[in-house]
Amino acid sequence: MKYSANSVWENKDKYDVIVIGAGHAGCEAGLAAARLGLKTIMFTVSINSVALMPCNPNIGGTSKGHLVREIDALGGEMGKVIDKTFIQSKMLNKSKGPAVHSLRAQADKAQYSKTMRCVLENQENLELKQAEVTDILVEDGKVIGVQTYSGAIYHCKAVVLCTGTYLKSRCIYGEISNETGPDGLQAANYLTDCLKNLGIEMYRFKTGTPARIDKNSIDFSKMEEQFGDEKVVPFSFTTNPEDVQIEQASCWLTYTNEKTHHIIRENLDRSPLFSGMIEGTGPRYCPSIEDKVVKFADKDRHQVFIEPEGLDTNEMYIGGMSSSLPEDVQYEMYRSVPGLENARIMRNAYAIEYDCIDARQLYPTLEFKKIEGLYSGGQFNGSSGYEEAAAQGLIAGINAALKLLGKEQIVIDRSEGYIGVLIDDLVTKESHEPYRMMTSRAEYRLLLRQDNADQRLTKIGHKVGLISDERYEHLKLKEEQILREVERIKHTNVGANPKVQELLEKYGSTPLNSGITLAELIRRPELNYEALAPIDEKREVLSDEVIEQVNIYIKYEGYITRQMKQVEQFKKLETKRIPDDIDYDDVKSLRIEAVQKLKKYKPISIGQASRISGVSPADISVLLVYMEQWRR
Ligand SMILES: Cc1cc2nc3c(=O)[nH]c(=O)nc-3n(C[C@H](O)[C@H](O)[C@H](O)COP(=O)(O)OP(=O)(O)OC[C@H]3O[C@@H](n4cnc5c(N)ncnc54)[C@H](O)[C@@H]3O)c2cc1C
Repeated sequence: MKYSANSVWENKDKYDVIVIGAGHAGCEAGLAAARLGLKTIMFTVSINSVALMPCNPNIGGTSKGHLVREIDALGGEMGKVIDKTFIQSKMLNKSKGPAVHSLRAQADKAQYSKTMRCVLENQENLELKQAEVTDILVEDGKVIGVQTYSGAIYHCKAVVLCTGTYLKSRCIYGEISNETGPDGLQAANYLTDCLKNLGIEMYRFKTGTPARIDKNSIDFSKMEEQFGDEKVVPFSFTTNPEDVQIEQASCWLTYTNEKTHHIIRENLDRSPLFSGMIEGTGPRYCPSIEDKVVKFADKDRHQVFIEPEGLDTNEMYIGGMSSSLPEDVQYEMYRSVPGLENARIMRNAYAIEYDCIDARQLYPTLEFKKIEGLYSGGQFNGSSGYEEAAAQGLIAGINAALKLLGKEQIVIDRSEGYIGVLIDDLVTKESHEPYRMMTSRAEYRLLLRQDNADQRLTKIGHKVGLISDERYEHLKLKEEQILREVERIKHTNVGANPKVQELLEKYGSTPLNSGITLAELIRRPELNYEALAPIDEKREVLSDEVIEQVNIYIKYEGYITRQMKQVEQFKKLETKRIPDDIDYDDVKSLRIEAVQKLKKYKPISIGQASRISGVSPADISVLLVYMEQWRR
């Protein structure tokens, strides 16, 4: 951006880390760097939009709940804030196996933003500044600072880009297009050009949101009320479960119908999605209602979830009907849905286009390969979702800090966490649409459950310095209790006595002919640890968390052991580091395409190389032989 001479001013305050963005990614990045002792400043185009939820009013859901638990286990903030600001909570997929159990909490959006802002404003080493960053300053391939719209220069040693859906953003519905950010906020129109000049490849993505409707104009008698869980499980491992047993708000379920679909089909020519007005690529797994009606033409109805945006507002979020159709069509379309016949739209549905990057330009540490000290996280990396953003922001913030502290940066691998799957997929695999996390993406999902995120990641958070000794000791005690109890019930026998037979009959379980261990009983589908209490006098009082783990360890032991064997194989290739100065042109039998891809994406391990599209298993064998010869 061009500045007049007298507007350029150098801020004398020297910073260690500058975070551009106070969205879900920026908040985690800024807090992590500041909590690790680095002098940090966060920039946002509007301080009133800290941790804004411009779309769905909920945190978590299938696989996203896993991410929130992992963020908490590492020492991040999202889990704690949602435990303080949720208005309804549900453990999803409870009828299925523990690998897909996932928490989802409806948030009071305004309270969520306010609470996170309060955490930021009271965090030592952290400043919050409202200003648009227009340039990243780089010297000899290394970040040295940023410049803002006012011309002010802020010096630092690392920058974390978490610009979300704001870079050159454009909001579109029907023929209307506004160069604004979400919810009418200011767009950030200058940074993209600077990034392109620094040689960074940019993508143009899009996403969309539904209308918000006044609850006083909704007839809930035509809908199915959706309640939260009777017993709420908190997201954060530090939250006392008693503190989250609150009176909960309801959500509601209704459906589109043939009339809705007809209105949409009749107006597809006016849809910017189909008229070509929208250039950006949208998320396949978060389709607009227009997309759904076209792609699933055989379906006679689609679910519509009516969700409160908060307790102090009448705004209701119309989940499942995001759209960019013209305003007049939106009124017709929403009013065709049972219960919304008299809908008063408070905010129109719209689509938003924005600039982001091809994340294969990043190392798994989320540092740019081309520019030292430049990191990025969130929607800017091509993902979609609050949880995906927060997870990346946390890792980027931690690594920017660790680098400046001269410590080894962290890479969570695919066998350690959904965060590892998320980042590895983004920085290794080709993707031309916003990336949304799903349980099917995690090959080791039986080990990566939301219930054991602390056992997988808290030790890393402690090593990094974000988890206190006290919290880490608490975890170790919990792990000892789990292992001790699993051992005890594996070696505790009960006989075929009347008390045992009576209990088995009560649960419709096959009576015993001879003695058996408690563990063998727990493996029976109709029984679990809690059910055996009457015949197990020696057990000590354990927390629900520990009991949950004991049940899972015993019931899924076989599957867990098998998956751990697969992880051993995975780790062998994952820890086989590729030397930074390898010359792929020198590896004779590598195919041309593989050489091109390996030279461009510089994988750090054989494992990562094997996941790059265009690099075949045969290429990997050739590479392994070459590295072996080179090592000798
Ligand atoms: C209309 C809409 C619909 C969406 N629909 C979905 C959906 O259906 N499903 C889904 O999973 N996700 C959806 N999302 C995405 C979701 O909102 C994001 O995933 C999430 O907010 C990303 O968090 P983030 O921290 O990466 O970025 P954001 O929350 O966008 O925050 C970016 C931050 O960067 C700041 N910023 C940007 N540029 C600059 C600059 N140059 N200088 C200073 N500050 C700057 C902004 O002020 C803001 O604080 C939607 C988003 C929008 C806007």
